[in-house]
Amino acid sequence: MRRKLVVGNWKMHGSHAANAELLAGILAAKPYACDLAVCVPAPYLSEAAVTLAGSSVRWGAQDCSAHEQGAYTGEVAASMLSEFGCRYVIVGHSERRSYHHETDLLVADKAKAALAKGVTPIVCVGETLAQREAGETETVVKRQLSAVIHALGHCAGEMVVAYEPLWAIGTGRTASPEQAQAVHQVLRAQLRAATAHADAMLILYGGSVKPDNAAQLFAQPDIDGGLIGGASLKAADFVAICRAAG
Ligand code: PEP
Repeated sequence: MRRKLVVGNWKMHGSHAANAELLAGILAAKPYACDLAVCVPAPYLSEAAVTLAGSSVRWGAQDCSAHEQGAYTGEVAASMLSEFGCRYVIVGHSERRSYHHETDLLVADKAKAALAKGVTPIVCVGETLAQREAGETETVVKRQLSAVIHALGHCAGEMVVAYEPLWAIGTGRTASPEQAQAVHQVLRAQLRAATAHADAMLILYGGSVKPDNAAQLFAQPDIDGGLIGGASLKAADFVAICRAAG
């Protein structure tokens, strides 16, 4: 039985005051029956680490460099995330693939760099609406995941995968539980072919998960929790989604 994981992706939102209020709200609702984490903007890692230390709530980042260190202005190394106690780092989020032109290979290298420093990569895959309508969903997500499986080799079982259809991110349009489960099943089969640990691996769903649709999504056999954007910015909503996970 896989324990569910709910991860908040704050994206580029927050301030000292807003973060303190949000984290206090999340901590006040303990205990949780699922695992949970918040992936915060890099400048706020330190305060997240201090506020969440000693609690069961984990924290992480939203991206990392594929490089170990060097002249890469603006980038953050996985070793730095590790120093801040990050448990997770999101890699390959569709916003980074789209706005920063990140390729499957770069995403795979980032996942490898994270794991090498003991930070678990949450690898995002997902199709656009046009790709779904053209019947290409399976091909696209398998291609994206395949690059990471190949790069991680025998460590592939250590990543977390997040299926995030682009047409559902921030749009208020959620994949139906059946649509999401169908893709998760494909991803699980791909993982089974690559690693003996596939049945213990977590595959999260992300895309307009809200308190009122979370339970149905999380009830699907291959949906092991969620990657939550907008609804992770309000403590009450995020807590309600965590409650729906277990
Ligand atoms: C995300 O950005 O990872 C996400 C799932 O966003 P939202 O929940 O707002 O759709």
